[in-house]
Amino acid sequence: MSSLPTSPPAAKRQRLEDSSVAGAAPSSPSTFTQQVNGHTNGDSSAPAVTSAPTLPVASSSAVVQPDSSDDEEEEEQIKHEEEDDGTHRDMYLDTISRQNLDFDFERLCSKSLSNINVYACLVCGKYFQGRGRGSWAYRHAVGENHRVWLNLSTEKFYVLPEGYLVSDPSLNDIINVLNPRYTTKDLIKLSKNQQSSSYTLNNQIYRPGYIGINNIKKNDYLNVVLQLLLHIPPIRNFFLDPNTPELKEDKKPTELVLRLSTLTKRLWNSKLFKSQISPHEFLQEVNKRSQGKFKMTEQGDPVEFLSWLINTLHRDLGGTKKSNSSIIYKTFQGKVQIQTQQVIIHKEYSRPVFDIGRDMQTISSPFLFLALDLPATPLFTDVNEKKIIPQVPLSTILAKFDGKTTQEFGPTLKRHHLTMLPPYLILHIKRFTKNNFVSERNPTIVNFPLKGVDVSEYVDPKPTDPMHTQYDLLSNVTLDTTKASTETSGTGPGITAKKKKANDSSEENALTWKIHVRAGQHNASNNNTVRKQDDDQDVKENQGEKWIELQDLRVENVTPEIVFLGETVIQVWERRDLSNA
Ligand SMILES: [Zn+2]
Repeated sequence: MSSLPTSPPAAKRQRLEDSSVAGAAPSSPSTFTQQVNGHTNGDSSAPAVTSAPTLPVASSSAVVQPDSSDDEEEEEQIKHEEEDDGTHRDMYLDTISRQNLDFDFERLCSKSLSNINVYACLVCGKYFQGRGRGSWAYRHAVGENHRVWLNLSTEKFYVLPEGYLVSDPSLNDIINVLNPRYTTKDLIKLSKNQQSSSYTLNNQIYRPGYIGINNIKKNDYLNVVLQLLLHIPPIRNFFLDPNTPELKEDKKPTELVLRLSTLTKRLWNSKLFKSQISPHEFLQEVNKRSQGKFKMTEQGDPVEFLSWLINTLHRDLGGTKKSNSSIIYKTFQGKVQIQTQQVIIHKEYSRPVFDIGRDMQTISSPFLFLALDLPATPLFTDVNEKKIIPQVPLSTILAKFDGKTTQEFGPTLKRHHLTMLPPYLILHIKRFTKNNFVSERNPTIVNFPLKGVDVSEYVDPKPTDPMHTQYDLLSNVTLDTTKASTETSGTGPGITAKKKKANDSSEENALTWKIHVRAGQHNASNNNTVRKQDDDQDVKENQGEKWIELQDLRVENVTPEIVFLGETVIQVWERRDLSNA
C-alpha cells in the first residue's frame, strides 16, 4: 500500500491506551490459542480444516477459484465465538495499526490479484486472499506475525493463523472507515449544514465532505469532477441514503455505481482516520468502463469526463429518454428550443439575419449542461506591450439563449431559447479549440456574481415563481495557470500554431485543475436573519457561506473574491428555491 504511515505503527487512539501488550504478544500461536480459545485449526471436527484449500496461484488473472472452504469454516467459528463472546478482549487487538488502514484501494489480494475472499491485514494494511491454512493471508500472518484480519466483504474480524473470529466494540471505528453508514438523521443534518467538525487519528480537525482527494498521478482533472458532483446535494444524498432503491442489492447496481457510492460515503465520512481519501478504486472502474479513455496517468479534459460520467450513471441507474427517469435527469436536465434557418444574404444587411417570414425548423432539445462560447480574444496590449487579458460578463455569453441572438453554423443560422430550467444548471465555458491537432486556449476571464444570477431573459415560458429563475453559484472549476507559460496562452493572430506546438509539451505539463466549492448556504439577503444568527455563534459558524478551494490533497478556505479570478471552465449553479429549502 503506497499511502503513507506517518506515525509509528504502534500509534493508537486514546481509547486503546490501556495496551502495553502490543510488544509482548506471544510469539507462539499455538500456545496462545490453547490458553485463550481452547481451539486451534486442528482440534475441531470442522471438515473445512482438514480439506485445506489449495494454494492460490499468483497470476495476473483477477479470477481465481473461490475459496469455498472458508464459508463452511466460518459457521463453525461463529459457534465458538458465541460461547466466548464478552468473556475477554483479545490481546492481539492491540497490535492493530490504524495509521496503516484506509481501504481506498481495489479489493484485490496483493499476491493472487483475486477479488474473492479478500482480507485486510490490520497491522500493515495489505490485502491477502483466504484465511485457511496455506492461503496468502495465513502465510502472511505466520511470516510477519501480523495477527488481526478483517474480511472486506463480511466485515468480520479474525485472528490468524488460528482462524478464530473476534468481535469487540473497539473495532467499530474500523468498520466506520471501511463502510461508513448514514442514517436519515445524518442526511438531514448534512442538508441543513449542521454537521460538526471531525478529528482524525492525529487529532487534526476537518470538515466532513471538504477533504482532499489523492492525486495518484495525473488525475486532478478527474478529482475536480468528483468534488463537483459529490457536492451537489441531491446527488450526494442519493449515494449516501441507505434507502435509495437503485442501490439496493436486488437492483444489481453496476460496479461503477457501487464504487461511486462508496467514494461518496467516504468523502462525507465524519469518522475518517485521515482527512483525505483516494479515488483509486473508483477510477480503476472508470478506466475500465470508458475503455481507457479516462486514465489516472494522463491529463485529460474534465468536461469530457463529466459528460461521460453523468451519461453513464444515467444509463446504469436505469434512466431512459424520459425526463426525471434518473437522479441525473432529475437534477440536471433542462430543455432548450433551437430554431434553424438557411442562410440567405440580404443586400441591405452585411451579415445574415433571421427572417421570421421564412421557413424555419424548430426543435426542443433536452440538455444536461449548457456550452457557452467566449468571444475571440482581441490582441490588446498595454503600454509595456504586455498582453491584456480580456474580460467578459457572464450575461454576455449567456445571451446566446435570449432567443434573438443568432449564431452561424455553416450554411445555417441558429437561435436558442431555454424552455425548461434544471434544479442544478451546469455551464461549460468553452476555452479550448482544436485546430490541426493543436489545442488553443482562450484566457478570457468571465465575470459573474456569486449569487442571484437571473436567467428569466433566456427562458420562455417564464416560470411563475421568480425564485425559479434565480441561481446561486455552488461550485466553480478553474484551470490553474500559475505555472503555465503566459506566452503561449490565448488564440488570435501572432500566436501561431507552430509557436504553440513548440511549447505545447511544457505547457501541457503545467496545466492543472482546481475547484471552488461553496460550503453552507448563501447568507439570506434579509438582515434580520443575519442578526439572529449573530446571537448564536454556532449557528452562524455552521450556516454562513464559506468558499473552499480544493486541489487534490490541498484544502483551503478562501475569500469569495478568489473565486472570480481564475479561468473558469465548469460551473454549477443551484436554483434559488432549492438553496433555501
Ligand atoms: Zn501485515
